[in-house]
Amino acid sequence: MNLAIDARRTTAHRAFWLMTRRVTILAASVDAIFFVFFLWSGPAYMAWINLLSIGLYATANRLLAHRYNTPALWLIWLEVMGHAIIGTLAVGWEAGFHYYLVMFIPAIMVSGYISRIVVPLAALFSIYVGMYLAATYFGPLSPIAGSALVALYLFNVSVFFAMASYTARFFYQRVRQSESQLREYAARDALTGLFNRRYLLDLAGREQTRARRENAPLSLAIADIDHFKSINDSHGHETGDQVLVHVAGILERCCRAGDTVARWGGEEFLFLLPNTNADEATLFATRVCETVAERSLPREDPPTLACTLSLGVACLSEDESLTEALARADAALYESKTAGRNRVTANSPACNQPARSA
Ligand code: GH3
Ligand code: MG
Ligand code: MG
Repeated sequence: MNLAIDARRTTAHRAFWLMTRRVTILAASVDAIFFVFFLWSGPAYMAWINLLSIGLYATANRLLAHRYNTPALWLIWLEVMGHAIIGTLAVGWEAGFHYYLVMFIPAIMVSGYISRIVVPLAALFSIYVGMYLAATYFGPLSPIAGSALVALYLFNVSVFFAMASYTARFFYQRVRQSESQLREYAARDALTGLFNRRYLLDLAGREQTRARRENAPLSLAIADIDHFKSINDSHGHETGDQVLVHVAGILERCCRAGDTVARWGGEEFLFLLPNTNADEATLFATRVCETVAERSLPREDPPTLACTLSLGVACLSEDESLTEALARADAALYESKTAGRNRVTANSPACNQPARSA
């Protein structure tokens, strides 16, 4: 489980750096447009600054490709900060270069603990306000024509919208992905990959409600591996685990559409069989029992390892709780054990609902 969580963290981590690499390409393309724009409208030094920016992004991209993530991040910060300050002082607040600093807010907020974000956030705010005051009181150092200024503003605001939307969507998707992975981990047994007890109990509650509403039969079958302790004792716990995985695979393949099997605990499994009456459930459980007995676990020494199952079946009656039906299935399993194992016993008081095949 820990390994799985680590793997998930690594995936999210990789996705973040992949996004950062994509951003360097996007930002270098934007700077190429600025380069042409400032060559045309002046001031010329802004064109050369943008050429330098393209070089910085190319370097950051190469660093990211070789996993030098921290220096790459510093280069990106330096470029964005420098570009926003120089652009604002050169052509004025109205050019909209200050928007790029806003992109730092989500980057700072997701970077760590509150204690580590207060100083960078305060510094960013001071720079932003400082830029505004400097641009307002000292005026643009290299003013450009009104129409060029409008074009520059529209371009900057469009790029800002695109970048903010892209990063917001990226973080939203990461959250959704983690959520569905966590839901999957919470529903599965780590060893066999089958659904776990909690998931099956939830599902059984929903299926019981549906069965009552539709007046349809619903059955349970508990399966328990015979003499599993002696498999562990004579072949080792690891082989015991392999047997569990092997049996779980067979049980899953035996399920028909709509059936669900879960690892109920240790070497016990529970089937939930919607639209299945007592007779059908007993037939199903017999087929499962025979299939497990026929398919030994292939190994090296000894070449195969046989195991059998005992099963107990119960069909839910209309006014019965899930716990009561489970207790009846358990009692039937106990009967299978005492009668010699490798068999199926049904414990069903008249299951008064119609059979699917009737
Ligand atoms: P019976 O035929 O009466 O069911 O006998 P049994 O030996 O199968 O049943 P018992 O309850 O005596 O022993 C079950 C064993 O299953 C004991 C426990 O150590 C083992 N076990 C439970 N979970 C696991 C697991 O995840 N891996 C392995 N290898 N063994 C497990
Ligand atoms: Mg048991
Ligand atoms: Mg057992």
